[in-house]
Amino acid sequence: MTDSSIPESRSYRHRQCGNETVVGGQSFETVSNPMSSMERTFCSSCNAMFGITEFEWSDTGETIADYYARHSKNATPAQRFLTSKTFLVLIVLLLAIPAAIAAFVLLANVNLLAQLLGAFGGLVVGAFVGMMIFVEGFAKPITRKVCGVADTRTLK
Ligand SMILES: [Zn+2]
Repeated sequence: MTDSSIPESRSYRHRQCGNETVVGGQSFETVSNPMSSMERTFCSSCNAMFGITEFEWSDTGETIADYYARHSKNATPAQRFLTSKTFLVLIVLLLAIPAAIAAFVLLANVNLLAQLLGAFGGLVVGAFVGMMIFVEGFAKPITRKVCGVADTRTLK
């Protein structure tokens, strides 16, 4: 689904140095997302990360911290947890570890190398599936509901 009304980039100003950083692509998706639980972001002039209270959107002057708070104020504690990195790690581990163990057990009749490779493959596939479930099943739909938009890059 591509929508030409979705902006491709936005810039924010680091208040301390006064310089702007333009974000696009995946970084823009993350920075624009009030449910991303991001606490620090990058200043391209200072070439370093600073807290989101130190940055303001160039077009509105609102700090990224205030913007997050404003757009996520309707989120319930459960919604915050289900979009958090803690839950992401949990769901990844819950899939990756059993997948690794299952592969290790199923390949017991082959040899140890096959078992180890299988376990590694199980970890990778389990982690990937876990991330997909987190993003598509939890993070995206919950963010859409809380923020009221299909894509957080359209938020101001
Ligand atoms: Zn700076």
